[in-house]
Amino acid sequence: MKTRILNQLRAASGIISGESLSAEFGISRVSIWKHIRKLQEIGYNIIATPKGYRLIDSLDALFPWEFPGRESKIHYFDEVGSTMEIARDLARKGCPDFTVVVSGKQKKGRGRLQRVWLSSDGGLYFTLILRPKIPPVLCFRINFLASQVLAETLRTMFNINAMVKWPNDILVNNKKISGMLSEMETEADLVTFVNIGIGLNVNNDPTHNEPNAISLKKILNHEISRKKILSEYLDQFEKRMINPDFENIIPEWKKYTMTLNQSVRIVTTQDVTEGIAIDVDENGALILRLADGSTKKVIYGDCFLQNT
Ligand code: ATP
Repeated sequence: MKTRILNQLRAASGIISGESLSAEFGISRVSIWKHIRKLQEIGYNIIATPKGYRLIDSLDALFPWEFPGRESKIHYFDEVGSTMEIARDLARKGCPDFTVVVSGKQKKGRGRLQRVWLSSDGGLYFTLILRPKIPPVLCFRINFLASQVLAETLRTMFNINAMVKWPNDILVNNKKISGMLSEMETEADLVTFVNIGIGLNVNNDPTHNEPNAISLKKILNHEISRKKILSEYLDQFEKRMINPDFENIIPEWKKYTMTLNQSVRIVTTQDVTEGIAIDVDENGALILRLADGSTKKVIYGDCFLQNT
């Protein structure tokens, strides 16, 4: 009912009477009033006048009913430790494919290798739970697809030059706007779930602690709706997951990467490798040409571009 009332309020150019809402939905005016009160309590700016109700501004809320058709699969929290923890729990309990855990902020947002992801108010923080019926070895490609679709979504929606840095950071003007990490569990050689966590700097500003970060608001000079980004991203990603073209994921991803043909330094807990990034293989490993002319494959590590 909240979704329907909100839709009516949004569609109305001005005030809409309690009477017409009650006739539209076949419930009493008192029930309408109670729903309006609930919406006001959770932050919607709705003014009530003797003539009826009016929605003042569109709240950038991430509540399930803001995603029509996905309501039952969106789990919204004002604040969590990490959306990854909640998603793992839900996945182990058997939640359906394409369940989303989204939070207004995270106290313990994390990146790869247990690093911190700064997650203050205004950013978009979510974990998507996928249950592709594929062998684990193909899961890497899903991660690449996830970052490619995010780069494409940002490019299309905001006309910005979003690029992917291997393996899956999104950068704009060489500054990091998004980080991604994934976790998977398998059983009998099949994936039971793969969870993809994304942190995107939207209206937050992490630059005080992370000078190499950037946010959409900084780039575009105005506030951006997180809800619209999430909704568009889910739509695009879901379309691509219906029948993924696994053979083409890495070749497609390469169109958006800034890592290839660059001089890079790959740092792992074991070693540091420097070379020219010449390719990414079918499993997502980065292939480097080393100074002695030989090649080396790296499957994980922090990638630093040498000339930026
Ligand atoms: P790298 O930045 O070296 O590519 P990574 O891809 O492993 O590292 P993630 O694990 O995705 O990075 O994110 C963690 C790192 O991102 C942190 O160590 C920190 O340097 C940086 N970081 C943390 N919060 C933010 C943020 N909100 N915006 C941009 N960068 C951040």
